[in-house]
Amino acid sequence: MPAEGLPIVALVGRPNVGKSTLFNRVVGGRTAIVEDRARTTRDRLYGVAEWNDRRFVVVDTGGLERHPADTIEEKVQDQARLAISEADVILLVVDAAAGETPGDAEAADLLRAARAPVLVAINKADNERLELDGAEFYRLGWAETYPTSAIHGRGVADLLDAVVWALPPESVAEQQRKEREARLEQDIEWEELAVQGDAGGSTETVVEIDIPAESVRVAIVGRPNVGKSSLLNALLGEERVIVSDVPGTTRDAIDTTLEWAGRRLRLVDTAGIKRRGKVAAGPAAERFSALRAMKAIGRADVAILVLDAIDGLTAQDAHVAGHVVDEGVGLVIAINKWDLVEKDDRTFDGYVDAIRAEVPFLSFAPIVAISALSGLRVSRALDAALVIADERRRRVATAELNRVLREATFRQPAPAVRGKRPKFYYATQAAIEPPTFVLFASEAGNVHFSHRRYLENRIRAAFGFSGTPIRLIFRERSRIELEPRRRPRVARGRQRQIQRGARRAPTASPDR
Ligand code: GDP
Ligand code: GDP
Repeated sequence: MPAEGLPIVALVGRPNVGKSTLFNRVVGGRTAIVEDRARTTRDRLYGVAEWNDRRFVVVDTGGLERHPADTIEEKVQDQARLAISEADVILLVVDAAAGETPGDAEAADLLRAARAPVLVAINKADNERLELDGAEFYRLGWAETYPTSAIHGRGVADLLDAVVWALPPESVAEQQRKEREARLEQDIEWEELAVQGDAGGSTETVVEIDIPAESVRVAIVGRPNVGKSSLLNALLGEERVIVSDVPGTTRDAIDTTLEWAGRRLRLVDTAGIKRRGKVAAGPAAERFSALRAMKAIGRADVAILVLDAIDGLTAQDAHVAGHVVDEGVGLVIAINKWDLVEKDDRTFDGYVDAIRAEVPFLSFAPIVAISALSGLRVSRALDAALVIADERRRRVATAELNRVLREATFRQPAPAVRGKRPKFYYATQAAIEPPTFVLFASEAGNVHFSHRRYLENRIRAAFGFSGTPIRLIFRERSRIELEPRRRPRVARGRQRQIQRGARRAPTASPDR
């Protein structure tokens, strides 16, 4: 059963009604256990929210507007269409203080055609009087309306209750994700208790990779016309491929499974890729492709982000790639239409340098230059994806990890932040897919971003993890706290670890 992307909740409404304020309030409140990732400059039009134990992507469709010159009505219609095509729940936001406007009514008319449930948030209902005024919005046609004040937080909890209620039922994949995270949390606690003793004499192998029994899921994503469907065709046309179409799990998604280099692979949402190929270019198509990509990424182990060599990496590509990182999914950057580039022996390196400089948070991702049209190196993109899928499952031994990190922090101690200098005691890899490391430290909240980067780079230099995001979680723990707690349950903790090791598949090295 393939994983399914998170459900999408789209905010629709005229400018200035408070969509982005509401967005920030909803997304800002997320308490994730794995929130660690590179800070980037990308603005937040998409964000993951969590409420009542459900997780969903919130999209501010207003922020996706690309035509500032459009009339307000045109803008809202545009948003409504986008929401209708991709959202699982639509939130129409209106302004209680301004009252109903023609723009609201038009958006409502369009949204009546939506298959997804529509909820009306009457925002700026900062007090009871405004809340009462907001009652006029019943005329839009939805019996249930939700007065909110995004700025003060009033009514937002009730609104979110309703949103979660309206979401499609939790998929198996979402449940599995939750179980994984609960297990991770538990493992971290065990590790905390089992803190001692790995330094010498460990019989664990240094690095292990579980070769997955299930097929590796690959999403091909990118803006319209960059060559996704051409790439798909080129890959499926390869002689070494055995192909079959299988239904995906989300609405109208079709996947393609194939055998490739002796491995089983599943290209997710190939129907979407083919369909996109026929949609005209333009801002609307771009936005559809971004939402579609987010869904596909949620179901993938590795994403191949296809760029057009002539356009290079655009802001939209950076958005999508940011989501890849957030989801902990592996990434290959494929520069397509390489045949159109006038080149010498420095051209490729120049491209790579430019991309690296523009999106430093993607420095872990391999870059390949391909031509889907001629078939040039297309197989390299898929080969890279397979290697990355294995890297995501790599597990390093605790003793070795601690040796590497000890040496790293010895060479370059963490800088003091606000006069406090973090001190590391112990680290362990708590999860794979993506590889997740927990570092116990005093002043764990004061680990500077640059030091986080440094530690991540040391881990990569020692163990690889090419093409996959890795997560570092810093947990507050002073040595004094560790000492008395560790004794009683050490034995159980160790035993459990060893059992876990024994269940693993035989060690294999990645083919690189
Ligand atoms: P958007 O264009 O729909 O994204 O609207 P914004 O979120 O940018 O909000 C527009 C303006 O309304 C900003 O000045 C916000 O501070 C203000 N605003 C947003 N929510 C509320 C609210 O609940 N009450 C009040 N009084 N002002 C709000
Ligand atoms: P999609 O919208 O991302 O699926 O893009 P398509 O695969 O439909 O390709 C868009 C256009 O770019 C088509 O006209 C393709 O023939 C062309 N194209 C795709 N790949 C290449 C390539 O490698 N080189 C050149 N020159 N053109 C390409």
